Amino acid sequence: MEIKYWNKDIETMERGELEKLQLQRLKKTVAQAFKTDFYSKKLPQSGISGAEDIKSLEDLKRLPFTVKNDLREAYPYGMLAVDRSEVVRMHASSGTTGTPTTIYMTAADLAACTDITTRSLVATGVEKSDVFQNMMTYGLFTGGIVLHYGAENLGMMVIPASSGNTSRQFKMMKDFQTSVVHATPSYMLYLHSRMHEFDITPSDLKLSKAYVGAEPHSEDVRKKIETLWNIDVYNSYGLSEMNGPGLAFECIYKDCMHVWEDAYIAEIIDPETLEPVPDGEEGELVLTILHREAMPLIRYRTRDLTRIVPGQCRCGRTHRRLERMKGRTDDMLIINGVNVFPSQIEEVIMRMPEVGTNYLIVVQKSGPLDKLIVKTEVTKDVLTDDTRDLYALKAKIAENLKASIFINPVVELHEHGSLPVSEGKAKRVLDERKE
Ligand code: AMP
Ligand code: ZN
Repeated sequence: MEIKYWNKDIETMERGELEKLQLQRLKKTVAQAFKTDFYSKKLPQSGISGAEDIKSLEDLKRLPFTVKNDLREAYPYGMLAVDRSEVVRMHASSGTTGTPTTIYMTAADLAACTDITTRSLVATGVEKSDVFQNMMTYGLFTGGIVLHYGAENLGMMVIPASSGNTSRQFKMMKDFQTSVVHATPSYMLYLHSRMHEFDITPSDLKLSKAYVGAEPHSEDVRKKIETLWNIDVYNSYGLSEMNGPGLAFECIYKDCMHVWEDAYIAEIIDPETLEPVPDGEEGELVLTILHREAMPLIRYRTRDLTRIVPGQCRCGRTHRRLERMKGRTDDMLIINGVNVFPSQIEEVIMRMPEVGTNYLIVVQKSGPLDKLIVKTEVTKDVLTDDTRDLYALKAKIAENLKASIFINPVVELHEHGSLPVSEGKAKRVLDERKE
């Protein structure tokens, strides 16, 4: 296996040098942060009066955390550090309605983000001659477009397929001899389950690699996709707040994901005490973005649980590695790659007078995909013998939910008082996907 680099100097930079670069960029980030409404109020509350207070990387600990709700409250431009006319790109987190969490990039930010993404792709061994079919959803979500730019920057032929339309995906894979794809792991499994309908086997294709991300998956799922498709599968982790994919990517050794430390400072904290834990220990990932002038984010709590893998990777890169995500510290569900908070479902249900107050959210596996079932109790007068009324009510609930969470749920109506009532804190989510 040949080790390829996009920017060897930075990827293999000696740790001391890399940390110097981080410090220099952190100072710049803090200076930028002072240009935003949000941080110009928040940083002084932690005793930081300017970038000159940052003298070493240790000073990072003096900076306050930023959380998702801060982005919502600062919507739309409370975290913007440049003039609006300098912004060339905005994105939002998947599946959010109401007040979204948005990010912004200047032309320089976009170029830096694209470069990092290209670096991630090259680390898996692809090259200009590859054909890249991007089956991640395009739109506000970073997953599709950000990797698209990175692949184009490398010079690959990019097919912006987006997700859905199985027959077209297979047709393009065959006609254009696609060699690399990007999708959620569940979509890869789903596509494989439908392959026989199109009279295709993996040997009819030229596919050799897949990047999978946007949702949690186990090592077993990776192996399953690799075996079914006869390809190499690489884990890709990112979040829209941090520019999406390209933040942490596996190299050819597929042994955890390099987090690009010239662009991000990664810390692992104990989610209870909020104190950093030593390398190797599991905790919540906290990230500071160093290559975005339009919208700095300092010590952003991702809510994702992982650990920093001690030791160096065989590829020679000095940037540390993150282990596969273990779960989350909040109640966010990821359903077929889309983020859903149970509170969004609750809001919709509570707004409908026909529906009672007790409900249950069940998430199950339906073949390779996820299925969301929303069970709701209805008020006594709604339960008539007229099944047409009940169908109409179910359809209305499903429609309202779809408008809010972008997912089609299966709605079940239950008689008043028939769903389990738990004592104390109600358990309203049953995630039955976990083995
Ligand atoms: P979004 O902001 O919509 O891109 O969603 C980001 C979230 O998706 C992250 O905070 C993770 O919880 C999840 N996620 C993204 N990539 C992965 C991955 N490779 N493994 C596990 N979870 C992931
Ligand atoms: Zn490596």
